[in-house]
Amino acid sequence: MSGTELSISRFASPVRTLGPGVRAVVWVRGCPLRCPGCIAVEDLDFDGGIRTTVEALAEQISALPAEVTGVTFSGGEPMAQAAALAEVVDLIRAGRDWSVLAYSGFTLDHLTRHGDAGQRALLERLDILVDGPYVRARHADLAWRGSDNQRVHLLSGRHVLPDPDTSAGIEFHVEADSVTFVGVPPVPGFRKSFEDAVRGEGVVLSPE
Ligand code: SF4
Repeated sequence: MSGTELSISRFASPVRTLGPGVRAVVWVRGCPLRCPGCIAVEDLDFDGGIRTTVEALAEQISALPAEVTGVTFSGGEPMAQAAALAEVVDLIRAGRDWSVLAYSGFTLDHLTRHGDAGQRALLERLDILVDGPYVRARHADLAWRGSDNQRVHLLSGRHVLPDPDTSAGIEFHVEADSVTFVGVPPVPGFRKSFEDAVRGEGVVLSPE
């Protein structure tokens, strides 16, 4: 056991809007970038979040039912904790052949040329990299990404881009006193509009 620690913000499964098929999504804590219009501002600080270990996270993923065949690393910035995530991938794939997708605000070209050993290790294990930061001014209706500067790299050849290449929408998870949503919002400013709509109804909204 490596005991390597990492910090995450949230975990959800099953999710059908952030990558092919039915997936688990891990929101990695912290991002070194500060893109205008970022829709995950509560995840940018490296402090806070949930401290865990690669073994504990791998166990949580491995325990999911067989219908869940993929893992998506969102954020925050997965490449800021890439070495630990690469370890997680190795552990879960020792059990079954998980599909792995990661988002990154860094481009594939940057990671390939300037990535550290952990970032290259994670890249080598990915089926899909969605790269580039979300740019609000370029918001678009696209599969798995929010703006048209973001690119889907099908690194392993295991998956294809949906046809048509349009948004998979968002999913709502409704609990007793909260509503969470998962997925790429269909229009810029969706979160604020939705919060405004439910405010006063006693509903707490948190993004996933
Ligand atoms: S890279 Fe992504 S998470 Fe980080 S600030 Fe930019 S949009 Fe937000």
